[in-house]
Amino acid sequence: MSDRKTSPRATLPSVDRLIRSAAIRPMIDRHGRRLVTEVVREVLDVFRTSLARNERVAVSPVSGDAIVDRVARVLDDMFTPSLRPVRNLTGTVLHTNLGRSPLPREAVAAMTAVATGAANVEYDLDYGGRGDRDSHVEDWLLRLTGAAAATVVNNNAAAVLLVLNSLALRRDVIVSRGELIEIGDAFRLPDIMARAGCRLREVGATNRTHAADYENAVSSRTGLILKAHTSNYIVQGFTAAVEGKDLAEIAGKHGVPLVVDLGSGTLVSLRKFGLPEEPTVSAILNAGADLVTFSGDKLLGGPQAGIIVGRKDLVARIKRNPLKRALRVDKITLAALGALLPLYADPERLVERVPALGLLARPVAEIRNMAERLAPVVADRLAGIAVVTVRSCMSQVGSGALPLDSLPSAALAIKPVGAKKKAPRVLRDLTAAFRSLSTPVIGRINDGLFLLDMRCLEDEEEFARDVTRLAFNP
Ligand SMILES: *Cc1c(COP(=O)(O)O)cnc(C)c1O
Repeated sequence: MSDRKTSPRATLPSVDRLIRSAAIRPMIDRHGRRLVTEVVREVLDVFRTSLARNERVAVSPVSGDAIVDRVARVLDDMFTPSLRPVRNLTGTVLHTNLGRSPLPREAVAAMTAVATGAANVEYDLDYGGRGDRDSHVEDWLLRLTGAAAATVVNNNAAAVLLVLNSLALRRDVIVSRGELIEIGDAFRLPDIMARAGCRLREVGATNRTHAADYENAVSSRTGLILKAHTSNYIVQGFTAAVEGKDLAEIAGKHGVPLVVDLGSGTLVSLRKFGLPEEPTVSAILNAGADLVTFSGDKLLGGPQAGIIVGRKDLVARIKRNPLKRALRVDKITLAALGALLPLYADPERLVERVPALGLLARPVAEIRNMAERLAPVVADRLAGIAVVTVRSCMSQVGSGALPLDSLPSAALAIKPVGAKKKAPRVLRDLTAAFRSLSTPVIGRINDGLFLLDMRCLEDEEEFARDVTRLAFNP
């Protein structure tokens, strides 16, 4: 045993010899001696361990080439960005795990313009002194929502946390039991409430909450009444909820603020895009909400951000909270949002200018035609492995927006041929092959099929070219 362990080690070249070799020198020129030496050491360690463990390999000396190849590969991997573009063919348009909203061209240009140098983030160019970070977006937010004041933080979860902590620290927050929401990525209202230092005062039942439930819960300890948009589910059947207007009346009567966490938050009616009606931010404010919070990267179609709009005195209190400093947005986000909002001035052209809305409103005929054109390309590449057909399917808006409403779409349905028993493995290998394309393609498995929903595919020709490079070894 000890023989096997020691003898193969002798067959490995030394770190020094490798570093001085002609094959490694160009890597040192590119990445520096220190990193390359570290990687050479790590790779040698790996070889040494596997030699010690594996008799069969140990018999043949490991060539210097194999080590050099491995070092080159490790360095390549290290310098390939981990975060990169993918093709979202999951059928979920605003996919949280895939970065939600694609940004308008105008937003990208604005981000680039401020990214490389200094910008007047908190500097007032008129009077030449300290300015307000929110000033770059506040005017447009007020114009588009009818609110009296606005502020922006890192995301909507931060917006809710900040509102609760600013207005209801050590006080009761009244919420209907039907609205104690959990959103996909670990946003759970009761938990946020606890961390914000608020006491949760649940009222009503899961399916029914009445005005009297709120009335009876209001006391001198009440900080605010919270209404949360049930973004990712609906309560159906024998149900009752208190409308915003009636809730506003109760809140007003007792002098406590009514806060609405709208989640997706849209500034315009979605009906003209063929989507079901969602209350707009201004409608919620008109119905009497004192504050509304919503996301920047859901239906709004912008960067990740949490937007708070509403009463001036309340927004002022929020802005004075030290937590605002911890949750603030950077110049890049402000630039993107500042370029997105003016696009809403002309709702007629939103679909062309805001990609998220463009994708949601994409005509099914256009999607289907593209699928028909691409099906033979994919079928050709997968000949003998899988058959490819075009199928009607439903896309989802995603991010908890309009949960029950799906959009008619078309998908490439890829079905493995051959033994049924092997199908699950072939499917898994297919998804892996699509994921390892230079621009990874993410689809979904459904009912024994690998589905690629074509709704979000925009660069048809590039996709077709990529597919021919699909490396699939069954
Ligand atoms: C999405 C959502 C949130 C969280 O918003 P983020 O921008 O993802 O932080 C909070 N509340 C509701 C109702 C939501 O739909």
